[in-house]
Amino acid sequence: MNKYDERDTMFSRMNLKEDSECYKYYYNRNPSMKEKDDFLRSLPEMGAKGSAMYNSINSPMVDAAFKYLSDIRRFSEGKVSENKSEVDPVLITKKIKGLAEFYNAKLVGITELKDYHYYSYRGRHEENYGDKIEKKHRFGIVFAVPMDLEMIMRAPKISEAIGVVKGYVEAATIGMILSYYIRELGYDARNHMDGNYLLVAPLVAMDAGLGEFGRNGLIITREHGPCIRLGVVSTDMPLIPDERKSFGVRELCRDCGRCARTCPGKAISKTDMEEKDGILRWKINSEECYRRWRSLGTDCAICIANCPFTYGISDELVSNIKTSNKARKTILENFDKKYGIRPIIREEADWLK
Ligand code: SF4
Ligand code: SF4
Repeated sequence: MNKYDERDTMFSRMNLKEDSECYKYYYNRNPSMKEKDDFLRSLPEMGAKGSAMYNSINSPMVDAAFKYLSDIRRFSEGKVSENKSEVDPVLITKKIKGLAEFYNAKLVGITELKDYHYYSYRGRHEENYGDKIEKKHRFGIVFAVPMDLEMIMRAPKISEAIGVVKGYVEAATIGMILSYYIRELGYDARNHMDGNYLLVAPLVAMDAGLGEFGRNGLIITREHGPCIRLGVVSTDMPLIPDERKSFGVRELCRDCGRCARTCPGKAISKTDMEEKDGILRWKINSEECYRRWRSLGTDCAICIANCPFTYGISDELVSNIKTSNKARKTILENFDKKYGIRPIIREEADWLK
């Protein structure tokens, strides 16, 4: 699998300041992207005045949380205790997973990190733009926090964005606690959190058995579908890795396509998977998706709110997804009967009115 260059991600491109050295460097190498990126940057800033869902009192709740995340990201790395504790890999794996769950992670997995999990170059911030990333640690501990379902069902209103950023804050906190703890034990550890990833969290999650990529481009978990935020801690402390799991996401996605039908940006593929960077996935048009985010002033998430996996599927039906047309048909018919065109709560949460 090829490595991703963080400079190519939408967030990195949108951070580029016109006429900065990074801007010139990027568009000299990618001239065909300049015009469409300039247009996207000309739209209202995420959550700013001029976007459709803007609310002068509620929108700053999202900005405030992202500012907080930006302030704490410097704590992602730290000094390792000189007193190294001998650990039994089986026992410490149990304790690490238990600690993450105690801090409200609902899914935790571990994988042995490979080169392809890491970005090739950093791209989000001017201070380390273009720095080469080398694989540093042996293991990735990946955890998922579910997002508040009722807030996500209000997608694409501002409640949705407030629900999403809470997920980032919770994942960042869990990552901090785990990485501080591991360093106290005498092993290096790094928290990969919003705005400060060296690796691609969904790839780590897939290999650690948390879920599979769905048509909407997101990791779909058995327990909460795509309605989660991920965090990763990388470390050299000896741990026991988990296995990849497959429970039928590809098979249901092939028959379903609800996210693609209701995506306001038509950004989700309605056809079959394609190979990109050595991995077979459904194609997402990130530019069209991001354009909706800037116009709406929230990160939309209709494709999370409208996924049958988000609402839980019975064990009996899941166990037959891969092999039975009838099971897949039943899942989709049950979903349509219950929710119609799509699950939605039209009113903002009471406390936000
Ligand atoms: S809405 Fe349907 S097609 Fe889209 S990710 Fe969910 S199951 Fe797959
Ligand atoms: S977030 Fe919205 S615009 Fe983007 S892919 Fe999902 S449904 Fe489409």
